[in-house]
Amino acid sequence: MPERPTDALGRPLRNLRISVTDRCNMRCRYCMPEEEYVWLPRASILTFEEIDRLAGIFAGLGVHKIRLTGGEPLLRHDLAALVRLLARHDGIDDLALTTNGILLAREAGPLREAGLRRVTVSLDTLRPERMQAFARSARHGDVLAGIGAAAASGFDTVKLNAVVIRDYNDDEVPELLEFARSRGLEIRFIEYMDVGGATQWDLERVVSQREILDTIARRYGPVTPLREDDWAPAERFRLPDGTTFGVIASTTAPFCRTCDRSRLTADGTFLLCLYGERGLDLRELLRTGASDEAIAERIRETWISRTDRGAEERAGLADRGVLHQLDSLRADPRREMHTRGG
Ligand code: SAM
Repeated sequence: MPERPTDALGRPLRNLRISVTDRCNMRCRYCMPEEEYVWLPRASILTFEEIDRLAGIFAGLGVHKIRLTGGEPLLRHDLAALVRLLARHDGIDDLALTTNGILLAREAGPLREAGLRRVTVSLDTLRPERMQAFARSARHGDVLAGIGAAAASGFDTVKLNAVVIRDYNDDEVPELLEFARSRGLEIRFIEYMDVGGATQWDLERVVSQREILDTIARRYGPVTPLREDDWAPAERFRLPDGTTFGVIASTTAPFCRTCDRSRLTADGTFLLCLYGERGLDLRELLRTGASDEAIAERIRETWISRTDRGAEERAGLADRGVLHQLDSLRADPRREMHTRGG
């Protein structure tokens, strides 16, 4: 097995997030607020066989964590078939999914059986009418059913993700924590990020890690930080009763120096940073007959020259506004969070 490449800042290539579709069945205001989108052409979307081949190549380079995401990954027909393929790679010991949960009740069992190890469900509100207003979806009940089904399906972990937005759901932080705690699930609160697609982003709407922790401490008592995995995006905390939760503070306390995440868009572009412009077109290589060795070499070369520190650079801006205006997103939909995979 070749040595795992490290980038120019010493960050290893070991964590790949694969977007399996740019389509989504929600329209969260922090991610897909527009009425119209430029979708990736269908013929450009990688087939399961192509994704599987790339996964094998990445595993050969030392990637051992793969997370399927999107768009909404469960919109991809028979996702369990892809999971079954990916689970066969020896090197990949951590196979996970991020989903909005709408279709999860039906899929949780087959996905677990296919070899999926971990599931994260996005749940921003416990109030159906808020989800309707904020994400244009009436399927809050289905999300809750999906969480229940996942919790009963024997995954190694089921986690919840909640993006906290001022004047939308910041008053629900304790309720969301309680919801997770009562089901034995861990929740991670995520700061609102100015990623591509967040065309309504505004610093005023960001609820910082500090505020989230203060809110929780007021309700539950002192919050103790847990020092564990320096490479994990979430900082984890413990309440006096032992409940743990996480905060992903990408906006106010970026963690670029320990970011080992790489991304594959649904149409096969290998991206080095959620904010980044630089990418390697792996679909072209796959479809023009490049060998596994040649593809691996291109990936390695791309990774070792990686210097991206997108979130830190954004945090350093004096006048921080949206990352991309609509015309720039329409010119290249790969700039969208839902295309590059959140
Ligand atoms: N559809 C799936 C889901 O909802 O989990 C997977 C894709 S979604 C883009 C992945 C994650 O990105 C979700 O947890 C979502 O809340 C998060 N996300 C999207 N836009 C965001 C933003 N502007 N700031 C912070 N998190 C964001």
